[in-house]
Amino acid sequence: MTTHTEHEHAHGLQFVGLDIPSKADLQNCIHCGFCLPACPTYIATGQELESPRGRLHLISSVLDGRIDATDRVLGHLDLCLQCRACETACPSSVPYGRIMEDARAAILANAPAAQPRGWRTRALLLREVLARPSRLRVALALGRLYTRSGAQALVRGPLGASLRGMLPPALARLESSAPVLDRAPFRTTGVLARPTSGSGTRVALLLGCVQGEIYPQVHEATVRVLQHAGCEVVAPEGQGCCGALHSHAGDAETARALARRNIAAFERAGVEAVIVNAAGCGAAMKEYGRLLRHDTRWAERAERFSVGVRDVLEFVAERDFANGLGRVERTVTLQDACHLAHAQRIREAPRAILRAIPGLQLVEMRTPDRCCGSAGLYSAVQPEMSATILDAKMADIASTGAATVCTSNPGCTMQIEAGVRRTGLDAEVCHVIEILDEAIRAGR
Ligand code: SF4
Ligand code: SF4
Repeated sequence: MTTHTEHEHAHGLQFVGLDIPSKADLQNCIHCGFCLPACPTYIATGQELESPRGRLHLISSVLDGRIDATDRVLGHLDLCLQCRACETACPSSVPYGRIMEDARAAILANAPAAQPRGWRTRALLLREVLARPSRLRVALALGRLYTRSGAQALVRGPLGASLRGMLPPALARLESSAPVLDRAPFRTTGVLARPTSGSGTRVALLLGCVQGEIYPQVHEATVRVLQHAGCEVVAPEGQGCCGALHSHAGDAETARALARRNIAAFERAGVEAVIVNAAGCGAAMKEYGRLLRHDTRWAERAERFSVGVRDVLEFVAERDFANGLGRVERTVTLQDACHLAHAQRIREAPRAILRAIPGLQLVEMRTPDRCCGSAGLYSAVQPEMSATILDAKMADIASTGAATVCTSNPGCTMQIEAGVRRTGLDAEVCHVIEILDEAIRAGR
């Protein structure tokens, strides 16, 4: 058992509940260390316990009862971005993402009074706000008021320096990373587009909790591109947040409830594919089968559902999308969303799409698949590490000279936009699908 210093109190926490990490998964690790150079937190700290191998060792030790899950142990687990770059680097196919999700869920399954306060608060916030559209919309309405009243521009402008200096550090950080909410949200359900010719493939779009509220133009572009690719597009009623952030935070029960709601809603739509334009959501929905594996009533339905989930870039790249594209004269660099490149293993589709656009020049970063430090709520709960990782990303972006940074996930867009503001880089940030949409419209 652990010896506790005075800075560290033992919660006496063990892994409990349904989602205990699998010993078989952990035993796949051969301790080779190939994952270390891929890990942003190991790169930033040089510490073994902030590396995938170190965290796997801690999880194994808690699982075997050799140590307690103390504050110090949980701190090492908490600094992980869950970017899954270690999975891509691992020659032994260690499923790090699900091991970490299970470890967090198995800690949060302890009695509420014993749970680490920060973890409990984060789960509560995600459950009571993100998973509840009416509350999330109230929060975003306040954000819209902040933008539209001109207060945001004032605080961020040259005259706002003294105002910014008066804000408590946590609020100043939140302000600097807040998006500009100057567009009407996309909340339309029902039939969004009919195929331009023939019967077309019928697909459903995930509206999600955040994408349509913060970046409605991404949904608008997605619908137009899918229509161009010969699809009928519907957005079923009853769908909602995918539960990805709840899973990452260890609140597996809320994630399961959200998964069941989405499966039922999309099944009713009778579509050939469920299209997702947020990489984190797509990765989570492709794993609904595993999330609901203990639920005898839902396990099979969830597996079936997951097979039909497609990231919009993967779906479009397999279709006849390049027909009649107009010129888009831009230099673009691509940020691989972690949950597209590492979790869904999709790297070529966004590149194939960008390269097919006449006039567009794709300039690769040195490490396009390294996390930008967004990672869901990570930038709020681990602001220093998030800022360190973002600084490295912004330097990499700047070295390309690109005027446009393409992403495939709203969290990455928000984080890189914050980086652009902080560094004063002259670049815009958008989803790959927006550029393809622009090329389609330019070709008409
Ligand atoms: S998920 Fe990312 S941050 Fe976490 S251990 Fe793996 S590479 Fe490091
Ligand atoms: S690369 Fe894979 S096998 Fe090697 S230490 Fe990392 S997790 Fe373990």
